[in-house]
Amino acid sequence: MEKKELIEKASAHLQLLCVEIGERRVGSEENRRATAYAEKVLKALGWETDTTELSVIDWHTDGATLSCNGQGFEVLSSHYSLGCSVTDKLVAINKVEQLETTNIQEKIVLLHGEIAAQQIAPKNFPFWNPEEHQHLTALLEKGNPKALVCATERNAATAGGVYPFPLFEDGDFDIPSVYMKDTEGEKLLTCAGETVTLVSQATRIPETAFNVIGRNSSRKKERIVITAHIDSKIGTPGAIDNGTGVTILLLLAELLKDFSGDHPIELVVLNGEDYYGAPGQVKYIEQNEGRFSDILLNINIDGAGYKEGISCFSPFGLSDDMLDALHEILWDSPELVEGLPWFQGDHSVFLQQGCPAIAVSSQWFIEHMETQELTHTSKDNLGVVNFERVAECALGIAAFIGKL
Ligand SMILES: [Zn+2]
Repeated sequence: MEKKELIEKASAHLQLLCVEIGERRVGSEENRRATAYAEKVLKALGWETDTTELSVIDWHTDGATLSCNGQGFEVLSSHYSLGCSVTDKLVAINKVEQLETTNIQEKIVLLHGEIAAQQIAPKNFPFWNPEEHQHLTALLEKGNPKALVCATERNAATAGGVYPFPLFEDGDFDIPSVYMKDTEGEKLLTCAGETVTLVSQATRIPETAFNVIGRNSSRKKERIVITAHIDSKIGTPGAIDNGTGVTILLLLAELLKDFSGDHPIELVVLNGEDYYGAPGQVKYIEQNEGRFSDILLNINIDGAGYKEGISCFSPFGLSDDMLDALHEILWDSPELVEGLPWFQGDHSVFLQQGCPAIAVSSQWFIEHMETQELTHTSKDNLGVVNFERVAECALGIAAFIGKL
């Protein structure tokens, strides 16, 4: 297929995913519309499809307020937190050691400074869960406060471009919490020891979401698994993260529909990379228990198609043959380069199971991961996408697969 035609198709998929549908948080109607669309496209191109239902929670808030002696403070409900309406003494904590020795029973706790510097891994997040984080959540649960107020600064490394960021974004953590800017937190510090009233009108709603898999063959040979997550964070249309990834996967459905190489292809639309429990990833692992050794290679697409710079393919544990094939493709395509390793994506699921993988992304993002202020914000929209880059990634992956 001509590149021009592919660019037009990319534009149509992205228009639907990121403009007509928009935010695709797990559990939302929009998320289900997006997976239904992916399924429809795969089916129309002749792929055998398989959808798996996931039990998840959706979440909604009508806002939050905090006041002390008649003075109001700007707060936001922490995503996926329970709501609350509480009045009690405010205790300010800025270090873990202080939390270990302070009685916070039935208090409202302001977490600020060092203790609130980094987003805390969700309690049951299976792929990344530092001990310090588990220690902190355990201390808080044992301390049994009425609610938490978290004052956070900018931290692109763990929260993308979101400022302030919710310190807790965890539907399994049941202490109600809100978050605010660090500068607002400094003002609130003057109320430590006094009585404050906190209301957060948030609710959790049991819902469903789906993984969608397309297959082109039931042959037993080792399969090539191509993955892209379809969910977005709350508050973003998720263009680079990861409307472009899903679009490239759908373009591959077209480019590979008549592919008759040795290895079966599995196209996997995953749901939950940007969600606290990674339900789609966990389900996929469960469904493939004992079958990861049948996977020749995972190709995961996340963060591709950024307007600045070119695309990069980062190899992980490839055999010499596969690496040679990749180098040939990169050699022929000046707009694709070999990328450095990075791990904040679904290829890590496959790496942890011992599979080789290639992560496809934008070079600019890999190089600016710790400083960029785009990810997970409303700025991640079609205005920052280069459709040509999207088409080139699809062509590069298809050419690479043709060589295996
Ligand atoms: Zn992503």
